[in-house]
Amino acid sequence: MAYSADVIVIGAGIGGLTAAALLQEKGFATLTFEKNNYPGGSCASFFHRGYTFDVGASVFYGFAEAERSGTLNLHARIFERLGVSLATIPDPVQIHYHLPDGFEVPVFYERERFLSVLISRFPHEEKGIRAFYQELEAVYDILSALPAGSLEDFVHVLQVGVKNPGKTMALAVKTFKSMGETARKYIKDAELLKFVDIESYSWAVQDAVSTPLVNAGICLADRHHGGINYPVGGSGAIPAGLCEGIRKFGGAVELGCDVEEIVLKDGRAEGVRLSNGEVFTAKAVISNATVWDTFNRLIKKTDYNVPEDRFLRAPSWFQLYLGVDAGAVPEDFHVHHVLVDDWERYQELGGTIYISAPSLLDPSLAPVGKHVVHAFVTDEMDRWDNYKKRGSDYKTAKEAYGDSVVQRTEKILPGLADALEVKLFATPLTSQRYLNRYKGSYGPLLYPGQNVLQKPQNRTSVKDLYAVGDSTFPGQGVIAVTYSGVSCASYVSRQLGEPLEYL
Ligand SMILES: Cc1cc2nc3c(=O)[nH]c(=O)nc-3n(C[C@H](O)[C@H](O)[C@H](O)COP(=O)(O)OP(=O)(O)OC[C@H]3O[C@@H](n4cnc5c(N)ncnc54)[C@H](O)[C@@H]3O)c2cc1C
Repeated sequence: MAYSADVIVIGAGIGGLTAAALLQEKGFATLTFEKNNYPGGSCASFFHRGYTFDVGASVFYGFAEAERSGTLNLHARIFERLGVSLATIPDPVQIHYHLPDGFEVPVFYERERFLSVLISRFPHEEKGIRAFYQELEAVYDILSALPAGSLEDFVHVLQVGVKNPGKTMALAVKTFKSMGETARKYIKDAELLKFVDIESYSWAVQDAVSTPLVNAGICLADRHHGGINYPVGGSGAIPAGLCEGIRKFGGAVELGCDVEEIVLKDGRAEGVRLSNGEVFTAKAVISNATVWDTFNRLIKKTDYNVPEDRFLRAPSWFQLYLGVDAGAVPEDFHVHHVLVDDWERYQELGGTIYISAPSLLDPSLAPVGKHVVHAFVTDEMDRWDNYKKRGSDYKTAKEAYGDSVVQRTEKILPGLADALEVKLFATPLTSQRYLNRYKGSYGPLLYPGQNVLQKPQNRTSVKDLYAVGDSTFPGQGVIAVTYSGVSCASYVSRQLGEPLEYL
């Protein structure tokens, strides 16, 4: 059979693009369809009146040219393999936390400097603080020694296990541990344990007890090694670089192409049908859509349906994209902030405010004398469903809620409301519409107590259909979906008879 390509990828998010780029570089013909006119999904940039806004992500791991690599520093090594250069700017503080009772913690790149901020507030917990963060270092040490590959690839797992028996065994044991339970082994102070919770919530949208220790070991340790680095030109520079790599090796990324159906024949994924009716076929199809969108929308046969509650559905977001007078953002303001007013409410919808001002690192993102401020809080689509027709009521409700978040943000950026030149507000309906994500959700999460290995890998219940992105192991976050892209490309390449070399 003459196929349109070896591999078709549905969606040009970071997961899909990473898989496509590695497969294409290996010599497979890839064809990626993206419904938007720009790639990147939640890690895209958009442009408005001279400002460059990050759609979602702006805290980035994985760009260090470290001597220690393993499953870490994946962006740097992927771009090196593709021969594409991507300039980044080091961010000296991962997140600056503003917590109840005047408790403030800037998480400095320098680990000891960060720990000393915690120790100065909790001197009685010094031993516990050091022991807990050392546990995260131990995970980091293991992951930086083991190569990235697919856990479904028997050859890879066997090779890694034989070459690194001690580390593989230690990692297997750690997959059964949660970040919160580990913290409770060493730390007793209730306020400090709340801090551990917000350290987890800030990227996992779950408290520490619900968060696997292994995931925490990447996010909370690598920030002090490879560090946080921001791409020059905004988050969209990452998908742009991946597209450059794909095209350089002869692959195609087709923008403005909405995949309406995954075509099944004789129980296998044969290809895709676009909304304009065109059909394309391939030896393998990779879906970068969420698990609910892939199985309940793109596959028309209901036998494959996935109930919503098979996973814990993370909430969506209400987002504020602001262009502001530079005077409202102090020069020594850190780039990323998390603001919690009340420990009782931080997990409620809207309870925690995330704020970033990336033009402090890259002034090209805003006109001269201005800054970009991106703020967001958790939200649910149901709250906005009544306004689906987007009439004046929707606009009024959106403005009122957005203005209330601006007012709360004034706690750390006084004068913000009066300094606004541009304000764009986006509800969960906007996320669903632009990102094609079920209910605009941040994605499926594990239920508390589940093992990280219970997150679906790349194979699916349909032959020759694979999944990539934040519905798959290890989960949400740009570096995590990049890992899923590496793992997916590794597995698919072996199925197609030409396994990838390790990065
Ligand atoms: C507000 C916000 C802030 C965040 N902050 C950070 C952060 O600071 N650091 C971090 O690491 N992570 C952050 N994240 C998470 C991170 O952005 C995501 O986990 C990651 O980008 C998801 O990548 P993905 O490949 O799974 O899919 P997505 O980004 O969802 O991309 C999927 C792509 O597929 C396309 N698509 C879907 N269905 C179809 C179809 N049928 N046909 C054609 N195209 C289709 C979509 O249009 C989209 O472009 C944030 C996310 C949000 C929303």
